[in-house]
Amino acid sequence: MKYIFIILIALTLFVSCERSINAEHSKITFKPYFDSAKALSYVKTQTSMGSRHYGSVAHKKVKAFIKEEIESFGYEALSHNFDAPYIKGRSGENIYAFLKGQSDKYIVIASHYDSRSIAEKDKDYSMRDKPIVGANDGASSTATLLELMRAVKKYENELPYSVAFVFFDLEDDGGMIDIEGSDSNILATDWIQGSIAFVSDNIIPKEKIYFGILLDMVGSPDAKFMFESYAHTKYSSLYDNVWRLAQKLGYGNYFHNSHYGFIVDDHTPFIENDIPFIDIIDMGYKYHHTQEDSYDKIDAKTLGAVGVLIEYVLTNPNGVY
Ligand SMILES: [Zn+2]
Repeated sequence: MKYIFIILIALTLFVSCERSINAEHSKITFKPYFDSAKALSYVKTQTSMGSRHYGSVAHKKVKAFIKEEIESFGYEALSHNFDAPYIKGRSGENIYAFLKGQSDKYIVIASHYDSRSIAEKDKDYSMRDKPIVGANDGASSTATLLELMRAVKKYENELPYSVAFVFFDLEDDGGMIDIEGSDSNILATDWIQGSIAFVSDNIIPKEKIYFGILLDMVGSPDAKFMFESYAHTKYSSLYDNVWRLAQKLGYGNYFHNSHYGFIVDDHTPFIENDIPFIDIIDMGYKYHHTQEDSYDKIDAKTLGAVGVLIEYVLTNPNGVY
């Protein structure tokens, strides 16, 4: 995703929210099916394939792995094939699946599964042009989404809303080409190609989506999830309510009521189409886009906090938005 440091106005506007959200401490007890050890094993499976960047053998392998795994849970794995809107000559494949609930409106839960083909932030200059294994950036959220799918299949037909699970392709190779005339259109970007195409191809009709939650870099032991300011500006009650639930579930050490600023990520095309969508992202991850973003940096506890939170939201969505 692309990080833009411009949201000072929003930052000052929302400082006042912090006190009221922190005021509630009543705890929720919840017995989840989500298994954080299983989620961690999915990180291992992906990282052991190597870097899953566009065009690599591991990129093909991880696609097959995701499809096989979700079919084994009893879902139909669907594919959205697309041409990258802003990277000439590249085509991608978003993988998605549905779980039927009592309403035909969907809550969308998403992650990107590709990893980045360069490591521009690596301390070692000689390693900067090499692809990263992306244990946190790509594998952690994909693993959490997979384990979530296994866990919540048990609630089929019982959940208040249907669920759409989406694994986006071609998220993470941005910033490598100049996009002409991109200043006025935040979707004119070489990041987030899969989600731009998914929304513009209307794979899930807009009016069918209740809201969505994107997961990105959800595996660091000291993860700090803070608001993405554009989503928070448009959908603050959704964001605040999800954070409040996280804190009530006992995950207040990860979920903080403060802002990262404006981040272009896979939720942005949905917001641009007036579909409520928030991002659970750890933008402070210190190994971001370096060769050190490896399996040993991932903690099952953090994957568990995010997975259990989403399982809770899907089972108890009333009042979330
Ligand atoms: Zn990335």
